[in-house]
Amino acid sequence: MPSPRASWAVERLLPLPGHGPVLRNQTLSARDGVIEGIVPTTGENVQAGSLAMPAFANAHDHGRGLPTLSCGIPDGPLELWVSRLGVEPHTLSFLNTACAFARMAQSGIGAAVHCHNTQNGRTLLQEAQGVAKAAKAVGIRIAFAVPFAGENPFVYESSAPFRDIFDYPDQFPALSASRYRRSLQEGLDITDALAELESETFHVQYGPVGPQWTDRATLEAISARSASTGRRIHMHFFETRLQQEWADATFPEGIVNYFDKIGLLSPRLTLAHGVWLRPDEIELLTARGVLLSCNISSNMRLASGLPPISTIIDKNMKFGIGLDGMSLEDDDDILREARLLRGLMQTTQPGILGPGDSRISTPVCFNALMRTGRESITGPDNGGLLEEGRPADMVIVNTDRVLPYEIPDAILPELLLTRLTRRDVRTLVVNGNTIVDNGKCQTIPQEDMEKELHDIVQRALKQATASYADTVPWEEHIRRYYSDSLHTNGQ
Ligand SMILES: [Zn+2]
Repeated sequence: MPSPRASWAVERLLPLPGHGPVLRNQTLSARDGVIEGIVPTTGENVQAGSLAMPAFANAHDHGRGLPTLSCGIPDGPLELWVSRLGVEPHTLSFLNTACAFARMAQSGIGAAVHCHNTQNGRTLLQEAQGVAKAAKAVGIRIAFAVPFAGENPFVYESSAPFRDIFDYPDQFPALSASRYRRSLQEGLDITDALAELESETFHVQYGPVGPQWTDRATLEAISARSASTGRRIHMHFFETRLQQEWADATFPEGIVNYFDKIGLLSPRLTLAHGVWLRPDEIELLTARGVLLSCNISSNMRLASGLPPISTIIDKNMKFGIGLDGMSLEDDDDILREARLLRGLMQTTQPGILGPGDSRISTPVCFNALMRTGRESITGPDNGGLLEEGRPADMVIVNTDRVLPYEIPDAILPELLLTRLTRRDVRTLVVNGNTIVDNGKCQTIPQEDMEKELHDIVQRALKQATASYADTVPWEEHIRRYYSDSLHTNGQ
């Protein structure tokens, strides 16, 4: 059934900030999820201070309804932090992700990758169905990355099993606990079953969690499946130095060369992080059209390092912006994330040439925020640009706070990137539907659901028999494993 026509009249419209003109007093209309027209209107029809631009894309996330700090889990180096996630309270996947997606929507995020962290390995399909229901209820575009993992559950093992370094292993039941591990076939079957739920706004992707957590047979099978089905792949890669060291020891031919050999590198692949990528690896990834998600806040909070952004730009690698469930202030403010990225560009390429100049870095950041990052969710779909015939995904902000008087249009994009935050977001439209209006999510009872989630987590934390404090002796062993270079055969 065709959807009714909807329209929005705004004072300013930027088809893509930093690229092209600032249009005044415009009405954008949409039908069936597509922009039908953008035409001039009179000043009386528009709301003062309203400014429309393409919706933002969150190129890498985990859909956490409550940030990990709210679950009693402190930030830290990734390899320790991952082990702390074991004390995260279990919640319903629908409730958890609906709260996360609604909060993203209030930040102007119209599309996000959801890398699913399973709570119970045996019920992934049900959890995924809950996420699909949440995506549909909230209405933003979600790419669900089906997790494929199981290797190296505690540390990145090379020569010595982790268990061997414990003097009294029996005091650590996790070491010998039997763990359920999905087979490759189960993962592929779940992907196929979920594919039946795909829609304009829900996409299913292969999500090998990272090479250190996935065996070669899985990576090779996923490469082949992706090539034959066209389905995208989303994978963490080179987030930390320890991961790079493990990969160098485990793949003497070079892990990126191995990826290339098995056909993993293609425009269908998104890599998250890439903090420790080397120039020759960036060159090969770029040549194969691989997309990168830069997740600066997460890299800072999990002590991972920072991506080599100047090389990424020099080599012309495509990149988007991801929050990774770890935004700087735990509020999913992707505008701040884009600002951080611009700051990184300007400090790692200082001087009068290149992106050290904000007239260059600002358009690059908006492009990553609105267009390139979006590809990691939808693939190339013509979105991320407000023009007739393109997807009707748009954010409308109120500029009263950030723009008290007229400035030249040429400076407007830079001012927006410098000053806007999520609190300025008034409206989010995705696929022609209004998801956020007047700053409030219109599609789910957000406050009630957040309260329910808070109550569940609070109750679980009160009743928990284990807390973060119990992980300290465990973490000492993790530190020892890496300080003795056991993850690299002692190299
Ligand atoms: Zn992640």
